[in-house]
Amino acid sequence: MNKKPIAICILGGGFGGLYTALYLSNFDWVRSGRCQITLVEPKDNFLFTPLLYEILTGELQRWEIAPSYQKLLAGKKINFCQDKARRIDLKKRQVELETGAALTYDYLVLAVGGKTRFVNLPGLVTHALTFRSLADAERLQERLSVLEASERQRLRIAVIGAGSNGVELACKVSDRLSGRGQVCLIDRGEAILKTFSSGVKKAASQAIKARNIQVYLETGVKEIEEDKIILACGDRIITHPVDLVLWTAGTETINWVKNLGCQQNSQGKLLTRPTLQLIDYPEVFALGDLADIRQSKTKSVPATAQAAYQQASCAAKNLKALMEGKRLKRFHYLHLGDMLTLGKGVAIVSSFGINLEGNLAGKLRRLIYIQRLPTMRHRWQVLKNLFLKVKNL
Ligand SMILES: Cc1cc2nc3c(=O)[nH]c(=O)nc-3n(C[C@H](O)[C@H](O)[C@H](O)COP(=O)(O)OP(=O)(O)OC[C@H]3O[C@@H](n4cnc5c(N)ncnc54)[C@H](O)[C@@H]3O)c2cc1C
Repeated sequence: MNKKPIAICILGGGFGGLYTALYLSNFDWVRSGRCQITLVEPKDNFLFTPLLYEILTGELQRWEIAPSYQKLLAGKKINFCQDKARRIDLKKRQVELETGAALTYDYLVLAVGGKTRFVNLPGLVTHALTFRSLADAERLQERLSVLEASERQRLRIAVIGAGSNGVELACKVSDRLSGRGQVCLIDRGEAILKTFSSGVKKAASQAIKARNIQVYLETGVKEIEEDKIILACGDRIITHPVDLVLWTAGTETINWVKNLGCQQNSQGKLLTRPTLQLIDYPEVFALGDLADIRQSKTKSVPATAQAAYQQASCAAKNLKALMEGKRLKRFHYLHLGDMLTLGKGVAIVSSFGINLEGNLAGKLRRLIYIQRLPTMRHRWQVLKNLFLKVKNL
């Protein structure tokens, strides 16, 4: 009698989920059909978020940073299920999908990421744009094009949040609008890029200064209106005229993940064992932005693509070990460094105490990211396009 294949269900086709599926697809267990992988993802395209800014300046095209799953998974033994998980019964090992279908699993990988955190701020939802997805980038492109086509001499953009997302966005938008742009960057904290090294902060500050980006620190946003933003800086209330507001201030856990009924931290992120398994459900792995994976008792692994990418490899190996009845390995995060784009063609690359800035860093960052794109074939196509562009300059 034929044995039923082992069912591995992966929820989310981002850095955690897609890369886990791709790693798993190379294993004999999957190739021979003893194990079946289903990747559940609502979108058509994977998104390589670190390169999303390049869409705004036309440095990269949509197909380069957001290849379709159909293309990425062609020829791989991965069932792509275009749907959205809406509920999981961890006890019954069942996933309920938005279309009403249900999937049962032997092993589950949870990697649905997070969502933009909106605070209770008047005008935020109505007037501000977010920058997380391809749709966000395309919406912003449209708004910038309309502004560029207008008669206005100065185009005033406010970016709220001076973390990496805010700083990179402010520099790229400023370069796109060149002389016409008047960008300001607003943050509650006392410094930009709170969690980054002094070298990265210094390079970013120089890039901000060179672009005349106005920085408001220790400043809260009180209200956003169609053409102005009200700021509170100590006792001062500042009214800043704007044409466009961009909100980059934070990520939070998706609601149904918060209500999953397993061990979670105070923000609803899933707590895991060092092997990436849920504490009470060893058949379930949690990775990426939805998980709180501890590096030590007091320190969590950062919620970044870099970390999710490393977790994907570990989760795939541990799933294999679990099926083979072998010992599972602990996840060790290795911080390889930080790379930030600081305008068109330029970046800071900071790794193991060495900082490289400017055009050369911009090129290095691009090459490193191309090497991290999901499949060999896609990497090669993007690289070929880059060489063609350089040749035609
Ligand atoms: C603009 C931007 C720039 C960034 N730049 C960097 C950078 O330079 N370096 C870096 O290290 N990190 C960067 N990050 C952070 C990085 O993108 C995340 O940390 C990383 O994507 C987390 O991986 P993940 O797999 O947890 O989630 P994601 O990559 O977000 O993937 C989650 C996937 O789950 C899908 N999904 C959502 N809900 C469901 C559901 N209910 N059912 C099924 N699927 C679902 C989503 O569609 C998505 O495809 C950036 C993020 C943004 C937004």
